[in-house]
Amino acid sequence: MTKHIFVTGGVVSSLGKGLTAASIGCILESCGLRVRMQKLDPYINVDPGTMNPYQHGEVYVLDDGSEMDLDLGHYERFTHAPLSKNCNFTTGKIYSKVIAKERAGDYLGQTVQVIPHITDEIKAAIDGLVADDVDVIITEIGGTVGDIESLPFLEAIRQYGIEKPKHDCLYIHLTLLVHLAASGELKTKPTQQSVGKLREIGIQPDILVCRTEHPMTDEMRRKISLFCNVRPEMVIEERDVESTIYEVPLMLRNEGIHRHIAAALALPDLPEPDLGAWEDIVETIRTSQREIEIAVVGKYMELTDAYKSIYEAMAHAGIANRVRIKLRRLASDEIDATNVVDQLGGVHGVCVPGGFGGRGIEGKIEAVRYAREHGVPFLGLCYGLHMAVIEYARNVCGLEDANSTEIDASTEHPVICLLDAQQRVTDKGGTMRLGAQRCRLVNGRARLAYGVDEVEERHRHRYEFNNGYRAQLEEAGMSFTGLGADHDLVEIVELAEHPWFLAVQFHPEFKSKPTACHPLFRDFVRAAMVRAGQAEPVPVAADARREGPPS
Ligand code: GLN
Repeated sequence: MTKHIFVTGGVVSSLGKGLTAASIGCILESCGLRVRMQKLDPYINVDPGTMNPYQHGEVYVLDDGSEMDLDLGHYERFTHAPLSKNCNFTTGKIYSKVIAKERAGDYLGQTVQVIPHITDEIKAAIDGLVADDVDVIITEIGGTVGDIESLPFLEAIRQYGIEKPKHDCLYIHLTLLVHLAASGELKTKPTQQSVGKLREIGIQPDILVCRTEHPMTDEMRRKISLFCNVRPEMVIEERDVESTIYEVPLMLRNEGIHRHIAAALALPDLPEPDLGAWEDIVETIRTSQREIEIAVVGKYMELTDAYKSIYEAMAHAGIANRVRIKLRRLASDEIDATNVVDQLGGVHGVCVPGGFGGRGIEGKIEAVRYAREHGVPFLGLCYGLHMAVIEYARNVCGLEDANSTEIDASTEHPVICLLDAQQRVTDKGGTMRLGAQRCRLVNGRARLAYGVDEVEERHRHRYEFNNGYRAQLEEAGMSFTGLGADHDLVEIVELAEHPWFLAVQFHPEFKSKPTACHPLFRDFVRAAMVRAGQAEPVPVAADARREGPPS
């Protein structure tokens, strides 16, 4: 019988609901339960794919090509729950379904309304994950309790609870204890009001998780319990973490959240969680002494959520290499040939992440040039590959105005262009290449890092390397070390003469986990450590000669 945990949030947004939901998933998995994760988002966009990263942070891409909320990244990093397009529903997606059904005549004779039609569709979305091999589904409701947009979702989960047997559903509410710096006090009133709002619409939370900067006293716990109608032991503290978000599962475990969940969901034999791997991660982060500095040269630098998975993958590489990673976040539109040395001087690695449109691309190209000419390890991700190719074409091959047709449609040298311009896959021209695709690896650093001959990586882009320029760039020293297994598209480029220069057309950051760092990030950071004099170089040539998969 599948049980349900619903996670809501109150007081303020950005409290870390996704992280808390993912951490609970992680704990329950480590107790041996088979967990699924899901997010319901109140905004009207059908998916976040069309939103600016400033609005909504990074768009997270799944194997099946669906473009998702970034919280799904937390779910994948913290749990093994398989994710698909059925794991993120927005108001827009729910309404689209209901409207399509109405047009198809499915509700003939009825007035189609929020209750029951929209709420039924939301409940169907939750039911979609129920299966014999699923013990617990954790459903996170986006937004903050009190928002108009959230109401149909909250109403749906309220109904869901009363329609199921008594111990099948559990409601966890995440709130903030507000700290008043002037008086040094922690205030519980916003929490009381947020729970009050939930109760007004018929949801009595079973567990309160209180985010707080400072320890919660027993007296506060009793007060919150009294005013919020939640048993005192079910009022749990979630203190701001000092060193890493990967501490959150340990913290919630120490608060005994799994025991409270087991009690509320009638799971009497739940074993204690084994979080040994997570303890090791936190210990490694705390005790790593060495430090390197990596520059990330992108467009949305003020907002850390815009490149969330990249920063996380860098952290994973730090864990794998036992090194602290200091990030120098640089806005590419502030970089030019006159200041690039000042801006990038002293870094041990340069990463150019994905992006869209023309703003700041010349700065990115300058950053690539700096890394290439100064022998600084370079990792290009998606748009970063485009920048690396343009830079090489311009500055090494002498194709002066080489560009991507995304930036300059009339360039004389379209080294990056749409598929249909290459007349290869005309029916897909101009649409996004999305989701997992197979890539064959030929000798090079990528092959060395992965240790296998074929990998599957996630894509989210429209423009491709123009094969019309392959011979010329190869002649000039660029290696094409990853090619599509199902087509002849370039997936990975490298410079063999450089200490470590590698760019990929896909997004490896979406497949990195704290417990299993992505091999490309791992080796990039290792190369940066070599640059910093903290590690010995890996002899690429010897391994690159190896035939077939490693034994
Ligand atoms: N703008 C580029 C394209 O559409 C790269 C996209 C990306 O970096 N995700 O092909």
